[in-house]
Amino acid sequence: MGTIYQAHCGCGFEKELLIGHGFMSDSPDLFPFLCPTDGLVVINLKNKRLRCPRCRRSKLLAYGEPPLSPIVARDDDFRRTLEDAQAGYKRRFFVENGNRCPSCGNMSLTFERIGCFD
Ligand SMILES: [Zn+2]
Ligand SMILES: [Zn+2]
Repeated sequence: MGTIYQAHCGCGFEKELLIGHGFMSDSPDLFPFLCPTDGLVVINLKNKRLRCPRCRRSKLLAYGEPPLSPIVARDDDFRRTLEDAQAGYKRRFFVENGNRCPSCGNMSLTFERIGCFD
């Protein structure tokens, strides 16, 4: 099940995002990236090449890891690695607080959970 997030920052930046994937095995697995031109964009991790949906650029940074997000200790990396192999693509980890804001550049962007989608 996917999650609807409201991204927001103290500078006034706000954007609603769908993250994760629906029930169907062929549904997209959506994850936030930062495009140097378009800012915060959501990309399907199952795509063979990860490109910005607007400018088609492939030089993107992923949220959930430095430099866009803080390092978060995870004790289940081994299990996730197995899941990655089964899924056939690299899953990415999501961090809800302390992300880089595409508008002001501070590490003050929060992804707040506001609902779910199938
Ligand atoms: Zn772009
Ligand atoms: Zn900001």
